[in-house]
Amino acid sequence: MLQFDVLPVTPFQQNCSLVWCDKSLEGALIDPGGEVERLLGLVEKHNVTLSKVLLTHGHLDHVGGTAELKKRLQLPVIGPHKDDAFWIDGLEGQAHMMNFSTPEHFQPDQWLVDGDRVSVGDVSLQVIHCPGHTPGHVVLFDDQSQTAFVGDVIFQGSIGRTDFPRGNHQQLISSIRDKLFPLGDDVRFVPGHGPFSTFGQERVSNPFVSDKLFG
Ligand SMILES: [Zn+2]
Ligand SMILES: [Zn+2]
Repeated sequence: MLQFDVLPVTPFQQNCSLVWCDKSLEGALIDPGGEVERLLGLVEKHNVTLSKVLLTHGHLDHVGGTAELKKRLQLPVIGPHKDDAFWIDGLEGQAHMMNFSTPEHFQPDQWLVDGDRVSVGDVSLQVIHCPGHTPGHVVLFDDQSQTAFVGDVIFQGSIGRTDFPRGNHQQLISSIRDKLFPLGDDVRFVPGHGPFSTFGQERVSNPFVSDKLFG
């Protein structure tokens, strides 16, 4: 069964999730945006052994600690979809824009596509390609616990920005309404920033994607 704990990192308070299998205590960090020491403290607190880093998309506040983790712990980096390669290749420019120190460069060891599965011990996360905020954004969904790690696709009461290069508002709406909402109203999600919610709650009250706007 999947367990998880969330630690907001960077000045953007990006929700990095530590996910693990409660049987094997094998774990993964989803979107380690920075503050690697604090993240490793969380890993230690839960007595988890990391086996990989998972990335939802290529924005710096989500990937900034990746190169350091990869180097220190020899962890494979998995995701996002290869359409986000231009964001990862452009980390220096992102650092400049966000006023972050320049991070080390890295290359993912494996790009993800829609329908892939990623194992963390006995947990099998389903990969859902959800372009719009970035073209290569993926969501990681655990069917068993009905939990989704959605990065910057949807937030409680809001949706991801689409004013970045290759952002696409229509595509984002379609990703949310046609790919995420059908997973079920009871699915709780951990967004890249801010509080958790459920898809059912957002169908009712989200001012960008609620059912009453699209009924
Ligand atoms: Zn983002
Ligand atoms: Zn973000």
